[in-house]
Amino acid sequence: MSDSKLSNFITEIIDADLASNTHGGRVVTRFPPEPNGYLHIGHAKSICVNFGLAAQYNGQCHLRFDDTNPSTEDTEYVESIMNDVRWLGFEWSGEVRFASDYFEQMAAWAEELIAKGLAYVDFSSVDELRAMRGSVSEPGTPSRYRDTSPEENAEHFRKMKAGDYADGQCVLRAKIDLSAANILMRDPLLYRIRKELHHRTGDTWCIYPMYDYAHCLEDAIEGVTHSVCTLEFQNNRELYDWVIEHVTLPTYRPRQYEMARLALPYTVMSKRKLIDLVQEGHVWGWDDPRMPTIAGIRRRGVPPEAIRQFCDMIGVAKANSLVDWGKFDYALRDTLNTSAERVMGVLDPLTLTLTNVTQDVVIDADLWPHDVPREGTRSLTIGSEILIERSDFEEHPPKGWRRLAPGCEVRLRHGWVVRCDEVIKDAEGVVIELRGTADLDTLGAAPVGRKVRGTIHWLNAEHAVHAKVRLIEHLFDAELPGAAEDTDYRSELNANSMRVIDTARVEPYAAQAARGSRFQFERCGYFYRDPNDEGMVFNRIIGLRDSWSKAKQPPPRSKSASAQVKSAKPVQSVPVVPAELRLAVDNLVAKGLSEADAVRLCRDSALLAQWESSLKAGAPPKDAAKLLLNDLRALHNVGAGSASLKGVQIAALIDLLGGGRVARADRSALLSHLVEQGGEPEAVAAELGFLDRTDTVDLEAVVAQVIADHPSEAQRFRDGEQRLIGFFVGACMRASQGRADARALQQVLRQHLS
Ligand code: ATP
Ligand code: MG
Repeated sequence: MSDSKLSNFITEIIDADLASNTHGGRVVTRFPPEPNGYLHIGHAKSICVNFGLAAQYNGQCHLRFDDTNPSTEDTEYVESIMNDVRWLGFEWSGEVRFASDYFEQMAAWAEELIAKGLAYVDFSSVDELRAMRGSVSEPGTPSRYRDTSPEENAEHFRKMKAGDYADGQCVLRAKIDLSAANILMRDPLLYRIRKELHHRTGDTWCIYPMYDYAHCLEDAIEGVTHSVCTLEFQNNRELYDWVIEHVTLPTYRPRQYEMARLALPYTVMSKRKLIDLVQEGHVWGWDDPRMPTIAGIRRRGVPPEAIRQFCDMIGVAKANSLVDWGKFDYALRDTLNTSAERVMGVLDPLTLTLTNVTQDVVIDADLWPHDVPREGTRSLTIGSEILIERSDFEEHPPKGWRRLAPGCEVRLRHGWVVRCDEVIKDAEGVVIELRGTADLDTLGAAPVGRKVRGTIHWLNAEHAVHAKVRLIEHLFDAELPGAAEDTDYRSELNANSMRVIDTARVEPYAAQAARGSRFQFERCGYFYRDPNDEGMVFNRIIGLRDSWSKAKQPPPRSKSASAQVKSAKPVQSVPVVPAELRLAVDNLVAKGLSEADAVRLCRDSALLAQWESSLKAGAPPKDAAKLLLNDLRALHNVGAGSASLKGVQIAALIDLLGGGRVARADRSALLSHLVEQGGEPEAVAAELGFLDRTDTVDLEAVVAQVIADHPSEAQRFRDGEQRLIGFFVGACMRASQGRADARALQQVLRQHLS
């Protein structure tokens, strides 16, 4: 259904799979929402990718509800999701599918794992389970139930299923590897007990499979070939593959691929926050036109084609980034330009009485501009009483004013050239009416030899229909709501996100159109006749300013940015700064970051938020960026917005690492530990025994040993081959497991080698 062909890392994989016949020539994708909320624009990306891939390869895309958690799911969500997918223009292959339809098969596979000695029932408490997991630096510890016999486990599992055990009394765990670097592989949970009513299966089940166990099996049952999810599931892939490998599958093996999550500024996309916004009444509901939900975007008037075009534009990447709304707006204007008829509406009317007009004239006015290849007209009646936009008149116009002013002429769109002769004010001096004259020979014709300042929109006062207009802005003032420390995202709601104008008027043609029609009110923006509101209500879909095409011409670089580029070493590649990031990048460069780092930060909303909050806590901008980009990002998938280091922790870490009290070799273990378990950096370093550990390395002994092990290199050094110092430093570092202080080490080495 997508209008253009996708080409990205996933299509490359599919092409290769087709070439090697990996999946028997099939391409099956799925969109797997959990029915616990309404879909948002981020889901639209996933929908466009999954359905788009299926369409492109003549394959199939399933709609499957991942309904494995009875506590949060509801049929209301199931229906809204189906509705949204169809509205976006996609149709799933076959029936809608539900993970809950596979519960029987999944439990049978669990029994298979138990029989193979690969799963066991664990009666440990939640706290014990957590403690046994270990940490990044410590392996997990075996539960006392780990070696229960398969027969006994089978019996426990049967009882779990039968409801003989209470919620939380036990879980089914896979028996994998307690020392695995990937913590998810340390005997993960497969099943838990939840004695709750499920929206489809009622009380048939009281055990529910965990995501990691269920999802891959759902894919396998459906014969999914390419299971696309978002980056935060990268670590889960190992478990996905493990489960698939250890049960007896009926079909081909599905594979998981991870793509970037769509993130947009000035809004929130977590389902939890969206639910709160609705339940706490910050918005009308799921379809409030300010919401990033598909329902909200639809209610605002955005056509589905625009969303599809936007998703094509952003593509499929392997790195998370914050996408500028400018791209969305561009796709939106591009779609509306050729689909929305041009009519007139006046938001804030001011009467212009044309004193020389004695008769109405009917005009056959074009609905489309010349550059849109569509045809059609409607009748407009022009007469003596006209409404113009109050902002199109200025009593004391500034230089270059191209609208109406006393003694000046403008053209009324499709109508006459008119002049303002008289300004009438009320007692307070507010302009309440203009009087003027029309040049009756100028109807529709180009003004000859007369200076006309511009063209303005208007309505015939007699026919203009009263209307209410909603002007919609971003829901939040903050680029990343709630990102700053101690800031609740609710406190960053934009108080002007919806302005309602009751005084607006529209021409009869627009007023007669069905609800759900879209128009461009010339010079005011694109509008959508609200589909649900009984009255004459128009939502502004978007204004007319085209910021994207402006942004496409690169703005002049800020001084600091160009200085940075010049000083960069030739080998260091400076990334091309995408236009939509330009401003943000320049801001960071002004704070001392390299352009490359600035771009990397700006591309990742979660990292950027962390960086900003660390500055608030006093961290030096450049050091904070380096730490986040080089050390932390490698460790941890921060882009997904998962819990991570707070600004104060980052600031304290920089202090600690800068003070040289933690050895290089201990750095990454310390960072992993902090990311994983939290805590105050210095205290954690002390607890792990990393603090001031450099002192405990006996440099003399290490150096003596290394020199003894490498007599010929030592001789060459003594003979003048000075650059061998690097070789010795490296050897000593390895010998001391990286704990030696590099500078002190060099000194001792030189003494011993002299
Ligand atoms: P939340 O974390 O807010 O609850 P979710 O990701 O858990 O959202 P699901 O219903 O599980 O919501 O999502 C269905 C599919 O949509 C998943 O495959 C998920 O990866 C994808 N998806 C969700 N959010 C985004 C996003 N922002 N960008 C791209 N894909 C997304
Ligand atoms: Mg999810």
